[in-house]
Amino acid sequence: MKTLTMLKIIPIPAFADNYIWTLHDNQHAIVIDPGDAAPVRAYLDKHHLQLGAILVTHHHRDHTGGILELVEVYNSPVYGPRLEKIPGITHPLGEGDIVEIAALNLRLQVIDIPGHTCGHIAYLWNNSVFCGDTLFGCGCGKLFEGTHAQLHHSLQRLAALPDDTLAYCTHEYTELNLPFALACEPDNQQLKQREQDTHALREQNQTTLPFTMALEKATNPFLRCNEPAIIHNLELKLGHQLPANDELAVFTAMRKLRDLC
Ligand code: ZN
Ligand code: FE
Repeated sequence: MKTLTMLKIIPIPAFADNYIWTLHDNQHAIVIDPGDAAPVRAYLDKHHLQLGAILVTHHHRDHTGGILELVEVYNSPVYGPRLEKIPGITHPLGEGDIVEIAALNLRLQVIDIPGHTCGHIAYLWNNSVFCGDTLFGCGCGKLFEGTHAQLHHSLQRLAALPDDTLAYCTHEYTELNLPFALACEPDNQQLKQREQDTHALREQNQTTLPFTMALEKATNPFLRCNEPAIIHNLELKLGHQLPANDELAVFTAMRKLRDLC
């Protein structure tokens, strides 16, 4: 009988607030969105790990800057969105594709989640989703290339994943996003609790990631665009009414307001 080795999921910190999510079984590893090669090389060296593959969610430099150096050292295959130009990609991917990492006995499923960038993808594995810069703790990615409708739809797709899904995003933004979330929904008890929990974690320099989709759906205003209290607060801030029963209009107004903070 084959024994199942538990995979570890480790955040390697990079730059000011990026995490390079690393999956390994004490022998082989994959890394997701290596914006910088140096911390990845240091981690792999220290733990005597082979780099089996590099996965990328979108083309921004803070997610891709380390690819070529890592390929030079480890000669790993590089998986990434087919709709974006990223130097080093060997396996272009899109909706419905499966990534198989034989060394780790790992199968990840690809979904398209455009908005932050046009070709942004996410990787699903068991109850985990590696969602790049699309969903953040209590917030969402900025619109650099796509439309509000695209980003809204992509977030809806993530929110439709099972409640116990763990979301691994690329930035430690939860604390930064809390003031806006609380301004949208000051009476949300779970959000207030999350504020306390988040401060406690950050005071100890611990990550707030991953978070469950259940928590996100209960506290992230961008996933709660049909919540009457949130719509009411947005309308107060905007000084005008939003069209009734139009989640996309609420989302668009919310994302634009957030951009002003
Ligand atoms: Zn980005
Ligand atoms: Fe980023």
